[in-house]
Amino acid sequence: MFKFRMLSALLSCVLAAPVASAEAETIYIKAGRLVDVVSGRVHEDRLIVIEGDRIVRVAAANGADTGTGGRVIDLGDYTVLPGLIDMHDHLTGDHRFHGYESLSISVPRETLYGVLNARKTIDAGFTTVRNVGAGGYSDVALRDAINDGEIVGPRMRVSGPALGITGGHCDNNLLPREYELVSEGVANGPWEVRAKVREVIKYGADVIKFCATGGVLSKGDSVGGQQYTFEEMQALVDEAHQHERKVAAHAHGAEGIKAAIMAGVDSIEHASLIDAEGIKLAKEHGTFLVMDIYNDTFILEHGASVGMLEESLEKERQIGQLQRDNFRKAFEAGARMAFGSDGAVYPHGDNGKQFAYMVEYGMTPMEAIQAATVHAAELIGWPDAVGAIEAGRYADIIAVRGNPLEDVSLLENVGFVMKGGVVYKEE
Ligand SMILES: [Zn+2]
Repeated sequence: MFKFRMLSALLSCVLAAPVASAEAETIYIKAGRLVDVVSGRVHEDRLIVIEGDRIVRVAAANGADTGTGGRVIDLGDYTVLPGLIDMHDHLTGDHRFHGYESLSISVPRETLYGVLNARKTIDAGFTTVRNVGAGGYSDVALRDAINDGEIVGPRMRVSGPALGITGGHCDNNLLPREYELVSEGVANGPWEVRAKVREVIKYGADVIKFCATGGVLSKGDSVGGQQYTFEEMQALVDEAHQHERKVAAHAHGAEGIKAAIMAGVDSIEHASLIDAEGIKLAKEHGTFLVMDIYNDTFILEHGASVGMLEESLEKERQIGQLQRDNFRKAFEAGARMAFGSDGAVYPHGDNGKQFAYMVEYGMTPMEAIQAATVHAAELIGWPDAVGAIEAGRYADIIAVRGNPLEDVSLLENVGFVMKGGVVYKEE
């Protein structure tokens, strides 16, 4: 997305403390059906044993010992899955304020929206998000308040302000010269870009986000046009990786996508106009594609009423369907894909609506679920901590009624949410 902003950087490889400290009591979850996203199989009647914030054992329920004194949570009528992960979110943004409407929202107010949206997001079953672009480091404050147990929300990795060129998608181009409005992430030239990477890390960025092309919801740029030269992208990625930060590149246009992949980014966000050569390069480099193929529907149906500019709606009309078609092509060609929905473009909590589109455009329900769990865990940099129900990982567990492997849209109504061994939602 567009204008956004992030703190304590003590966790490049280490997971932060869980939200609320779990009780020492052992918890036993009886799962009627358990989705094993690692093997891609579904098991009937499993018992998940949780101590503190971690899963310690997963076993067949028959004959398994539930011990004495522990708490038993009976999800026998449910399908149990790992907590979902959204790799492209903006919790401190809000779908009601786009275009000129956004100019009246202060950073402190954005942070307060973040508190509400963090709750909506975890209630929707998303127990981990990567926040890629926020103003005033509001995402850093949100992440730290969640980690300290002061408010409820998903585990977060955050970028702070997205880096971008003057006048590009990650700048704010709504006001004329005399207002001197420049987004915090603007940096030009390899050395300015390196300095900006150091700056956002200083103030709390876990991941670096930058704009490699124009975008839909920005004023005055071409959605497909490359922003940043290859030399600037190389400097940015080199600096970020030197500090053990992954890089997420916003990119719609084919040339900007290829330049970003060649520069070594870890994920391409949107990837709307990716061509065959770009897909091949992504596969060769192991670059993840994070394609937000639900929010197009919201933009075209509701964008005008929430302040999106006519030029943005026109850009969406040009690329929305192409992005969905290219999602299918990239997936069928074997590109690595992780779930990302661009929350704040559409209402927070509706993240799960994207699953049905991922299935419509080529994935099986299991593949779509894997994109939002085990594969996303790898991209976010917590491959052994989240994204699967296995001994040793955090007890981030959700459940839905019915079978989402038959009807993936059931994931739009998550009935049970646990994060780090603490239950946050129960029907
Ligand atoms: Zn975005």
